[in-house]
Amino acid sequence: MKVLAVLYNGFKAAKAEPRLLGTVENELGLRSFLESRGHEYIVTSSKDGPNSDFQKHIADADILITTPFHPGYLTRDLMNKAKNLKVCVTAGVGSDHIDLNAAVDNKLQVLEVTGSNVVSVAEQVLMSMLVLVRNFVPANEMVRRGDWNVADIAQNAFDLEGKTIGTIGAGRIGQRVLSRLQPFNPKELLYYDYNALAPETEKALTARRVDDVKDLVSQCDVVTINAPLHEGTRGLINKDMLKHFKPGSWLVNTARGAICEAEDVAAAVRSGQLRGYAGDVWNVQPAPKDHPWRSMVNPLGGGNGMTPHYSGTTLDAQIRYAEGTKEILENYFDGKPQEPANVIVGVGKYESSSYGQR
Ligand code: NAD
Repeated sequence: MKVLAVLYNGFKAAKAEPRLLGTVENELGLRSFLESRGHEYIVTSSKDGPNSDFQKHIADADILITTPFHPGYLTRDLMNKAKNLKVCVTAGVGSDHIDLNAAVDNKLQVLEVTGSNVVSVAEQVLMSMLVLVRNFVPANEMVRRGDWNVADIAQNAFDLEGKTIGTIGAGRIGQRVLSRLQPFNPKELLYYDYNALAPETEKALTARRVDDVKDLVSQCDVVTINAPLHEGTRGLINKDMLKHFKPGSWLVNTARGAICEAEDVAAAVRSGQLRGYAGDVWNVQPAPKDHPWRSMVNPLGGGNGMTPHYSGTTLDAQIRYAEGTKEILENYFDGKPQEPANVIVGVGKYESSSYGQR
């Protein structure tokens, strides 16, 4: 079989650090495994446009491996050209870069390494909240440029304790965020998810369900997004939704950039409607140099907690999703059943309830 992987370039770092498994150079550690079984393995970072390796090789690939960190966008059109393709494996979590409805129609399976990086992301969410609420970035920039003015930083620095914090999406990441917030003594923890948590889970997480997103955001000092990107979440946080946020609240989005309207969020930060926005996911990746999220700041010069998409690709996470990808491939080659939680789209139907209410 022909296995095509679209990964990000690691350059010097990948040569120096072999645990950067998710890079073009280190190939998810799969080459000898695949070649020993007689398969052809093509690995590339070239993914955009008709002349890219991705679009050329997809024509006769049997298996596609992609990663959300450098997404190869498998559109319906490309699927129609991919005559041999049977399985798409996401090395990581979040398969929105595959047109999932088209995958259902084309009887293409979509699998991901569920849970592989959920702790990594939950930790990033906590860090991002603290970075924003405590006004960390301008404080660090100040000392590094040689200045010292405590009041300039303290005028926009707060404690997380006593705040109302809510998550949109309370799956694996959302629940881990809630449990990690408990020791900070928040005023209240809220969640919105059409898949309600079991009463005992709500109790253990001390989280109250709110059954409307607008109600959730209007009560929160800090909102975090932990839901997949699908028809029901694309552009969810737009100019209209932002009007329902508490003035001066903070928003953390490590789920998917396109859940937020980029220009609307940037305008809300610049006006102070949002005191800050942090995340590692962008509506286009790599993000263009002039993307508004790179430069937006609040009226006091802070409130920007953006990073490149790396929260789910720590070295610890890479080991887990590389191993998970290998297990999925082994199951497939050996005709064994897949771990049910890893199946997003089975043959001809959604198996996951996380990608919208259907
Ligand atoms: P999960 O499937 O365990 O949980 C997702 C939850 O979101 C589900 O409970 C689902 O019901 C809920 N949901 C779906 N649509 C919703 C909506 N409209 N409103 C409210 N809730 C909704 O998934 P997970 O492991 O928690 O991951 C969530 C997402 O985080 C992934 O799909 C991916 O996009 C993103 N992610 C990002 C990174 C990163 O590196 N930044 C890494 C891993 C995952």
